[in-house]
Amino acid sequence: MVGYPKQTLPPFSTRTLAGESGMVSDRVRNRMIQEQLVNRGIQDQQVLKAMREIPRHQFVSEALAELAYQESNLPIGEGQTLSLPYTVARMTEALTLTGEEEVLEIGTGSGYQTAVLSRLCRRVYTIERHASLGDAARRRLRTMGYHNVVYRVGDGSMGWPDPRKFDRILVTAGAPVTPESLANQLAEGGFLVVPEGSMTTQSLVRWHRGAGGMVREILGTCRFVPLVGAEGWREGRS
Ligand code: SAM
Repeated sequence: MVGYPKQTLPPFSTRTLAGESGMVSDRVRNRMIQEQLVNRGIQDQQVLKAMREIPRHQFVSEALAELAYQESNLPIGEGQTLSLPYTVARMTEALTLTGEEEVLEIGTGSGYQTAVLSRLCRRVYTIERHASLGDAARRRLRTMGYHNVVYRVGDGSMGWPDPRKFDRILVTAGAPVTPESLANQLAEGGFLVVPEGSMTTQSLVRWHRGAGGMVREILGTCRFVPLVGAEGWREGRS
């Protein structure tokens, strides 16, 4: 963790947040960036910029909008959650994006992580197993003007249905082990970030496909909803 100086920001009210895109939201977002991301070691300026600008409260129900910038997982329907801001930032930073990449995301969920990726790479291919979530995320992101995203509904544990390679792969649900189909779709020089472990707690793993093969690195511990599918956890256990 990087020792950035702590900054004390003034208290704020999120009462008008749901219908507000002006000063209150800006202040709340800036506070989230400083306290939850910068103070905890997120350094990638492009990630910080994207998360400062994206209205996270528009990815949850209006009833939860006031909580959108707090340090909490938020329910998004179908028993699924929108991950903590820190988790989104940490995973995105771990992908080391330059703006040129084609990124495969497994677990569209609300579409918030998709929006962050969309700002930082050439194209996002995202797949969600629940049609209700995938369809809602697609509508939401299109309305918000994100046009470099390709959507699918299905089992992403088996990878993107068309045979192809991706420069980066991000799995936003916890797998028992890294699905082989996903590893096979990683291009040479690419990174695959995936939570790997039990149903309740995982290691955040980053794979790199170098000239000599796949290299595995553990970035820390994390806690995700299960990746349910043929190369994940069996349905009925989530
Ligand atoms: N990144 C999302 C966001 O910003 O809202 C949150 C992702 S949530 C932690 C994990 C998502 O993975 C859930 O929406 C879940 O339905 C989805 N998921 C689980 N197993 C999947 C699979 N095999 N294929 C595609 N999506 C899957």
